[in-house]
Amino acid sequence: MTTRTSSDPRPSATPPEHLPERVRVLVVGAGFAGLGMAIKLEEAGRTDFLVVDKGDSVGGTWRDNTYPGAACDVPSQLYSFSFAPNPSWSRSFSPQPEIHAYLQDVARRSGVLDRFRFGVTVEDATWDEGDQVWTVVTSAGTVTAAVLVTGSGGLSEPKNPDIEGIDGFTGEIFHTARWNHDVDLTGKRVAIVGTGASAIQVIPEIATKVAHLDVYQRTAPWVMPRHDRAYTAIERLGFRFVPFFQKAYRTGIYWGRETYVPGFVRQPKILTPAKTMAEGNIRKAISDPELAAKVTPDFQIGCKRILISNTYYPALAQDNVEVITDGIAEITPTGVVTRDGATREVDCLIVATGFFTTDQPIAHHIKGRDGRTLGDVWAENGMASYKGTTAAGFPNLFQIVGANTGLGHSSMVFMIESQITYILSALQQMDAGGITAVEPTAAAQAAWNEDMQRRMRRAVWSTGGCASWYLDEHGRNTTLWPRTTFAFRNLLRTFDIEKYVVNTQSTSSGTTAPTKEKAGAA
Ligand code: NAP
Repeated sequence: MTTRTSSDPRPSATPPEHLPERVRVLVVGAGFAGLGMAIKLEEAGRTDFLVVDKGDSVGGTWRDNTYPGAACDVPSQLYSFSFAPNPSWSRSFSPQPEIHAYLQDVARRSGVLDRFRFGVTVEDATWDEGDQVWTVVTSAGTVTAAVLVTGSGGLSEPKNPDIEGIDGFTGEIFHTARWNHDVDLTGKRVAIVGTGASAIQVIPEIATKVAHLDVYQRTAPWVMPRHDRAYTAIERLGFRFVPFFQKAYRTGIYWGRETYVPGFVRQPKILTPAKTMAEGNIRKAISDPELAAKVTPDFQIGCKRILISNTYYPALAQDNVEVITDGIAEITPTGVVTRDGATREVDCLIVATGFFTTDQPIAHHIKGRDGRTLGDVWAENGMASYKGTTAAGFPNLFQIVGANTGLGHSSMVFMIESQITYILSALQQMDAGGITAVEPTAAAQAAWNEDMQRRMRRAVWSTGGCASWYLDEHGRNTTLWPRTTFAFRNLLRTFDIEKYVVNTQSTSSGTTAPTKEKAGAA
């Protein structure tokens, strides 16, 4: 990693009015994906790039999700860049502020921040076949880029529930991903809708301060114990000073996590010990059999994301907390009405209902070769791409964390780094071959997606008897990666140009005669 020192303790945000008119690579998003891409571009000696982000600092989801209790459920040592280990993690599972601070620190030390423009929203990106560039209209002006990399994340746009009357609620209301820190919940009557990964972290944090908490549970999640602890002083010294100690630690965690894969994708019975632990987690904290029954899931463990917490069930067992499973019929200006006709008045409504996952909002702003948006194309058959990174009809578009790249068991940072390697390899081959545009052949993309869906048939996400955000409206799992993460890394080690339509035509302002060739078959 290139390191530059800076005396400025805060990452600088260059005013958006300084957007250049033209860059070689435009990266959208400044989370793990965009930052990692920027660092690796710079390391490769590519200085002609720009990163734009609608927020005010690097961090992505770790900048936006500031709700009480926000923390990662992938161990810290693995949830970090391989090229920027952090000897300062305080715990085995990092809280959100530490991850955000880590990303800011990495950004500052890598010296790439002068290529970041914050407060810039991408409004439209259109492929210009004549000039072989993306014309990207942003809130701060228009930029043309030969290559467009999206790193805007699969979990970035909060999804509010479509519940009758919700817009008329007159109390405080906010989504977990847009926590309103101005609202003091102390002594208030609060309702939370949802019992997913975010909710189970928020609930224990607020249950002790609110007067009363109504938890609206549509589906009970499986929640295993969280083996979280502060690192000892000896461990922290080891991370900092003993060569390879931290790397060995990380490697051990990585392989431990990979052992979950067969249980998810082939033989869900392997996950039975996890189910036993999750059942024990309920028994340990909840003595009321009615409540225990309510919070015990009725689907196979692993079908939805497996959650981890030691404090969630104890919080549900508190006297001032009620778990409501009757289903929400409507929201009135002052309360929540359930299908059994009961109304519960509340001062504050917290929406913990997740994100747009199978219909990524940015896809509706990217127009490919035939003028259709990626969103339009996906609306027909669901999200699809080649290697989760490129898309037929969308030349020189690279998506980090695209279709079928999500994980339920390990670190997304590993997947992101694999994709960055692939993109750099593509750029290198484009430069070497005088190539102006690449896009996967339709056949290569179709074969890739057929393989994804074939592998999904046996996976617990399809067979486990649940509905989840992993599946789209067609019932297809277009979000998760159904193999080991090392298989993904191997497949993306080098840009496989033989699976691509390659264009060596000059731009409309150039000199070479257009020659469009189809390189190889799928
Ligand atoms: P989520 O897991 O999608 O959970 C959403 C919750 O809201 C679910 O309980 C869902 O019920 C419920 N819900 C959705 N629409 C509803 C409606 N109309 N009425 C009633 N209930 C409704 O969302 P999330 O908790 O924000 O987490 C999303 C993802 O972010 C996670 O899966 C994870 O990948 C990531 N995340 C990770 C961490 C971590 O690392 N610790 C923390 C937070 C988030 P159903 O189950 O019935 O759909």
